[in-house]
Amino acid sequence: MKAIFFSGLCLLLAAISSGAYAAGEDQQNQNLLLVDENYTSTVDQNALGQALAGEPSDGLSKAESEDLLYMVEEEKLAGDVYSALNDKWNLRVFSNIIQAERTHEAAVKTLLTRYTLPDPTLEMGKFSNETLQKLHDDLVSLGSSAEEQALKVGAAVEEIDIKDLEERMARTDRADIQLVYANLKRGSENHLKAFVNNLQRLGIKYSPQHLSSGEYEAIIGR
Ligand code: MN
Ligand code: MN
Repeated sequence: MKAIFFSGLCLLLAAISSGAYAAGEDQQNQNLLLVDENYTSTVDQNALGQALAGEPSDGLSKAESEDLLYMVEEEKLAGDVYSALNDKWNLRVFSNIIQAERTHEAAVKTLLTRYTLPDPTLEMGKFSNETLQKLHDDLVSLGSSAEEQALKVGAAVEEIDIKDLEERMARTDRADIQLVYANLKRGSENHLKAFVNNLQRLGIKYSPQHLSSGEYEAIIGR
């Protein structure tokens, strides 16, 4: 009887302490990314839902809405470009990262839903935003010319994504949007490393095309 009571008490204490630990984690853990050994960085949609639960979901500025509508298509662009280049070259780095980009796109869509913004995404390879349509077409064409070019296109997409996210992070102080952008940015930093490592294995040294060399070196050396 005593033993049963004791083990029951232990279970209760374990439940309380793990519950308290989980609550503390939710508030402080801003890391929604699941990163594997290949630097593939997927967003945990459940963790995102929990993290956003207490945040306000109204009063978005025009710039904030436009930025979300742009970023959802930019994350889709990464997935669509990698998908087209994977069809052409069948490289593991692309097939791994395509999945991650779909979770990044879904994370931005979660914000669109929160703010009842219309989803601008179209079918594979098509974009509502003309700038992104042109970028997609140019990158697929460039990356289709050679395997080495395809990997360089991958690295360039990640650099552009990092830059665009940084610009948009500077235009909002909303915790929910910052949280998503910060996680997508860390995802891109991991993906950039993955492409640079793949180029290195072919004996090619990648030079940044969009980021400053200081920022690039800091990411790669991490
Ligand atoms: Mn991404
Ligand atoms: Mn990426």
